[in-house]
Amino acid sequence: MNDCLFCKIIKGEIPASTIYEDDVMIVFLDINPLSNGHVLAIPKDHQRTLFDMDQKVLAHMLEVIKTIIFPRLQERLSIEGLTIVQNNYYGQEVPHFHIHLVPRYQDDMVDITRNTALLESTDLIFEKLKNNS
Ligand code: AMP
Repeated sequence: MNDCLFCKIIKGEIPASTIYEDDVMIVFLDINPLSNGHVLAIPKDHQRTLFDMDQKVLAHMLEVIKTIIFPRLQERLSIEGLTIVQNNYYGQEVPHFHIHLVPRYQDDMVDITRNTALLESTDLIFEKLKNNS
């Protein structure tokens, strides 16, 4: 898409610190990282959300994350864990599918905050979500 920020990165129209590229995807440093080595994995083919993604492209992206990116983060940054975040619609700042790979380190204090005042009981939520019998 012409006006998509991440499509512009893919085309080289906007600079990015790309650490991996193949025919299907790129991986680059997040400009506002949550931790050292926070990267975004994105498909070259523009899709807005997870629910628009081609299964084969998704499978390829996960394979690259598993076999190339995660080992590289472990070896070169000595990460102690990896938190994977992926936003769709609400909470999604850039409407081009992307997977956040957030390296974790002891005492890094990386956290997802919440508003407990909005939380309903888990019993009520379970009633709403369980399989219909
Ligand atoms: P999300 O809220 O899941 O859509 O996340 C979008 C992410 O893109 C944020 O973490 C931003 O810091 C990141 N971001 C925005 N612009 C750029 C850019 N030009 N280069 C790298 N990362 C970016």
